[in-house]
Amino acid sequence: MKEGCKLWSYTREEWLEYGKKLMDERSEKIRIAKTKKFDTVATHGLYDVDTSHTFNSASIIEPIYLSTAQSYYNSAEMEAALAYKIPTWCYTRIANPSNYFLEETIALLETYGTDIEASCCAISSGMAAIRTATEPFLSKDDSLPPMNFVASAKVYGGTFQQFALRRGVEQGIEVRWIRDPFDLEEWKSKVDEGTRFLYGEFPSNPQVSIFDIAEVAKIAHKNNVPLIVDATCASPALTRPLEHGADIVVQSATKVICSSGFGIAGTLTAKKGITSKVGSDEMKADFATWVKLWPYRDNGPALSPMNAIMALSDLRYLRMRMAHMSKSALKVAEYLEKHPKVEAAHYPGLKSYPGHKVASKYMKLADTDQNAYGFMLAFEIREKTPDGSENARKFYDALEMIWRATDLGRVKTVATLNAISTHQQQGEEGRALASIKSSTCRLALGIEDVDDVIADLEQAFGKV
Ligand SMILES: *Cc1c(COP(=O)(O)O)cnc(C)c1O
Repeated sequence: MKEGCKLWSYTREEWLEYGKKLMDERSEKIRIAKTKKFDTVATHGLYDVDTSHTFNSASIIEPIYLSTAQSYYNSAEMEAALAYKIPTWCYTRIANPSNYFLEETIALLETYGTDIEASCCAISSGMAAIRTATEPFLSKDDSLPPMNFVASAKVYGGTFQQFALRRGVEQGIEVRWIRDPFDLEEWKSKVDEGTRFLYGEFPSNPQVSIFDIAEVAKIAHKNNVPLIVDATCASPALTRPLEHGADIVVQSATKVICSSGFGIAGTLTAKKGITSKVGSDEMKADFATWVKLWPYRDNGPALSPMNAIMALSDLRYLRMRMAHMSKSALKVAEYLEKHPKVEAAHYPGLKSYPGHKVASKYMKLADTDQNAYGFMLAFEIREKTPDGSENARKFYDALEMIWRATDLGRVKTVATLNAISTHQQQGEEGRALASIKSSTCRLALGIEDVDDVIADLEQAFGKV
């Protein structure tokens, strides 16, 4: 309160000094957090005793600030804040304290175990994160040839639609699809002077296909463009693309980060100093902060503070969940692979998986030497005809405990027939490009006892 009294009469200079003190304290908190283990960072982030007393009535849990705006003591503070000269959150479309705690924790986890500096911008959904991460590179520049971007075709259905329809058809931007993201020659052959960024999913949803992040990053940087990776299905507990050379990583935090299923959220985390042939120096120096202060503010994909805290709350157990889910998924994948009614099973942890070696290089449970390959797998049920789906539907409709839904990363196991759901809208041609068959079933393992999951699968196969 005493400090508060003084603040009423602070001059602009005093506010700038006060702002600098807060920034120094934040840097010190980041330095300390960088010395902690993954689970500790996930649990505490930058929220400590001091922060709880200063900003949150000494509460041990981060606040849900369901407030639209911040108040200011005087005009000097307001002026400095709105010129972004001192730490401020202003207005929840620009920033919010609850979102801040999520952003700081994600930035720490995405760079865990490295001295890479990064910033994070939390966004209303995974799709909004993808749009916000890619759009700045598609700005007008008459000194360059007509623009294109190069993206793996093995991506989430929503991403395929955003790129093919919203960017391609509606805006006339050329999308160059990579059919086999594992093939480095294909990436090289698609990049030219007009290319603005490279984009891939690791591992992809639902085919769980992967690519060599470090090698594709080299191709991107040689061509002076960034590599953007969607690592939703690995999460920072298994794979941290920034450490392998990616410039920007996006997460649908809706999924395994917010496993309870209480909120839709996305994050965009960028290392400081990204590679790009377009954009200002300020944009390249700290992309995620620049995004937050400018396009995020102007386009308005703000994350609700409620959802931010839901995601933050689940984030604390991310690594433990991923360990459990990955173990279950491997057991289920081995069961499916041997099952007479299954045509093929796809899981990076299977020895038979074509990218198993590369997956093993990139997918490790943080703070261990153990590989863990995530919660998601896909399989095709044996059909009477190659493009049939009769058996797949019989099996699917017979599931009792496993949920039929278009969702993944949940604490509850969910099964999805992708051709009639997530990938329905992209049509047969689009599905062929993404290697999705009518009989493809995606399974996202939850945290139940895996034997009960297998028992449900077994009884459902019995109905085929
Ligand atoms: C779900 C998903 C998205 C989209 O995220 P939303 O939060 O649903 O907008 C993007 N990428 C991947 C890999 C996903 O699984």
